[in-house]
Amino acid sequence: MKKRNIDLVCDIAELISLAEVGKNRKELLQSAVASVAKHMRADVCSIYIYGEDERELTLRATQGLAKEAVGEVKLKLGEGITGSAVRDLRPVCAGQASQNTSYKHFPGIEEEKYKAFLAVPILRGLRRIGALVVQAKEADYFTPNDIKVLRAIAAQLATMIENVQLLGEAREKAEIPEVAPVKKVAKESIIRGRSASPGTARGRALTLGSEQHDSCLLPDPAAEPHSPQDFEKAVEKTAKQIDKLQRQTGEELADVAVLIFSAHLLILEDEQFAGRIAGLIQSGTPAVKAISLVVNEHVEVFSSSKMPLIREKVLDVKDLGNRLTRNLLDQKASECDYRGQVIIAHELLPSDILKLAAENVEGFIVSSGVTSHNAIICRSLGIPMVAVSRDLADGIANGEELFMDAGQGIIYLRPSDEVYEKYHELDDAWKALHNASAVKSKTLTKCGARVQIHANINLLSDLKPARKFKAEGVGLYRSEFPFIVRNDFPTEEEQFVIYKKLVDQMKGKPVTFRTLDIGGDKMLSYYSNVNEANPFLGMRAIRFSLQNKDIFCQQLRAFLRAGAGGNTRIMFPLIASVDDFEEARAIVHECMAGLEAEGIPFNHETQLGVMMELPAAVEVADDLAQEADFLSIGSNDLIQYMLAVDRTNEQVSNLYLAHHPAVLRAVNRIVVAALSHGKDISICGDLSADLRMVPFLVGIGLKKFSIDIIHAPTIQRLVQAYTLEEAKEIAGKMLGFGRISEVEAFIRARKLDVPQPG
Ligand code: PEP
Ligand code: MG
Repeated sequence: MKKRNIDLVCDIAELISLAEVGKNRKELLQSAVASVAKHMRADVCSIYIYGEDERELTLRATQGLAKEAVGEVKLKLGEGITGSAVRDLRPVCAGQASQNTSYKHFPGIEEEKYKAFLAVPILRGLRRIGALVVQAKEADYFTPNDIKVLRAIAAQLATMIENVQLLGEAREKAEIPEVAPVKKVAKESIIRGRSASPGTARGRALTLGSEQHDSCLLPDPAAEPHSPQDFEKAVEKTAKQIDKLQRQTGEELADVAVLIFSAHLLILEDEQFAGRIAGLIQSGTPAVKAISLVVNEHVEVFSSSKMPLIREKVLDVKDLGNRLTRNLLDQKASECDYRGQVIIAHELLPSDILKLAAENVEGFIVSSGVTSHNAIICRSLGIPMVAVSRDLADGIANGEELFMDAGQGIIYLRPSDEVYEKYHELDDAWKALHNASAVKSKTLTKCGARVQIHANINLLSDLKPARKFKAEGVGLYRSEFPFIVRNDFPTEEEQFVIYKKLVDQMKGKPVTFRTLDIGGDKMLSYYSNVNEANPFLGMRAIRFSLQNKDIFCQQLRAFLRAGAGGNTRIMFPLIASVDDFEEARAIVHECMAGLEAEGIPFNHETQLGVMMELPAAVEVADDLAQEADFLSIGSNDLIQYMLAVDRTNEQVSNLYLAHHPAVLRAVNRIVVAALSHGKDISICGDLSADLRMVPFLVGIGLKKFSIDIIHAPTIQRLVQAYTLEEAKEIAGKMLGFGRISEVEAFIRARKLDVPQPG
């Protein structure tokens, strides 16, 4: 039966005039739902009202659902179809509600029998007032016209609710949310998470969430109409933009960003994508809607694929849809990127981070725990990242203004002016503290002993700051990044080009290559390993290399060749025994023999070292020191394995303690073993840049620190602040404590946690 839209609009107008003469608020809402249900021939109509403080929707009136549900059913912003519509400020229409990923079942309200679901937000400007929902037993019941009509009604209801308040009818404030005067700013709130990459970021939240994948993105009425020619132009413009982005990124991140946007271009040129959108436009579908339909179809297909490589394309296709729409609407190029936005995601791939960074994203909030390589990439790119729990991330509304102090892991929602002022000052202080020009080329203790500061390099782009902060060499090159972001193992030649750049740019200064450290939380999407129950205890690092000798040899040959004429070393991660080291060393010698026989130049003097990351290696440190040319302490993993605390797990991050007495003693044992065999010893985990630990490390005899080079000014100042004798005395004391609490009390008492003045 035809729905009577005109009558409905009239009835609502009448309701609004009733509100003006002071009808009871409850009755008003009830009359509204009854009227909307009748005229839309809907089996159910409900009104939810939004409370800004609790960020929650409460069912306030219903026709069709159980009456007892009124006041009881509550939805968080983003929860259920209705919560998603209000969060995203747009209607959501589901032909089969229970199949929508956002659907939430409430037992006892008799909702099961209604298949079709249409939720429209009630808004005043961009301010959320509530939601108007209709449901019907018949699937696919609501039409695009119904959506338009319900939107118009929702707009009028917002006025009504506001009028009710203005006319002093909102005595029962607990039931009707306070409709804030326009100028009132919602209260600031703070979320605490864990720092993954420092820095500050300001922007609006943008959730990359799967719950939106199957809901229909409705066109902005202002976007229509557009001709097929307009769409063609938008495709051309989009292709040019992506091409430019690819070239720029390729120049800046040559080691990892090779053809990173190629999937965008391939999808764009695909007949099933652009061709299908053009076809829909030709047959009368409004252009913006045609784009969103085809994008959503692709998102659904990609996200449900069993192949990780295909699932990775979800972000690409959404990004493409966004660009096409904006180009169609003729918006500025800058509006096609992620400027002014902080991405909230459950999971992010390294390639996503690189792409979003190239598109000027301000920062990331992630809720799945941060894999170490994601944190490392963000640090290298200088993009702040904070890890928070899933609940907290879900509580951040799309479009919400936020400010994050990622160094401290703090996120301010709806920040006040005071927050910005405070951070402005802190920013100045931070800049002064990390002033590269203040760094001296040599680091000496107060008594004049030499300590070297080297750089950890993750991406080639880190070389620039390494030179700026006067790094004396590269103490750790994490070679896995070119592997992680590619779609297949890079060839020997591709690797050689990258490693050679590294050696050349360090201009004769020492460079330590670390062989491939994948596995654990650093997975390759193209290498299908059996799913491991405990990946950190599984096929990781040197174990992978020894099992995959071809891949290992290609990398070793590329290292050896890149080292020709240079000052290079190779070290192996996750060595558990002398046997591991000897096996790896024998393969290096085979590779050297091969290169020699082929007449290819390489560094014959390449030193071979062990990364000390496992308790087992600590036990045999003496034997390893005897065999290897050098040892390097990988404290990030050493702490993880000594304390059995997953370094990526939010829940146990309070147990991941660099100053645990067991860690201090293990580090000391390694240093003693190396020095007693006259071997070079360095430290390259984050412990080396922990200011509380620097006097301890110098005190036990460490003279080579490899750090995220941004910390060089702080570490240099700290080293300069102590004589060797003073550092030894501190180390001796710290080694004597058996309790964590004793170490902590000592650190506080000696003010080791306070930065030294410059
Ligand atoms: C370490 O474990 O300390 C280390 C430097 O290696 P990564 O952080 O890359 O595992
Ligand atoms: Mg490690």
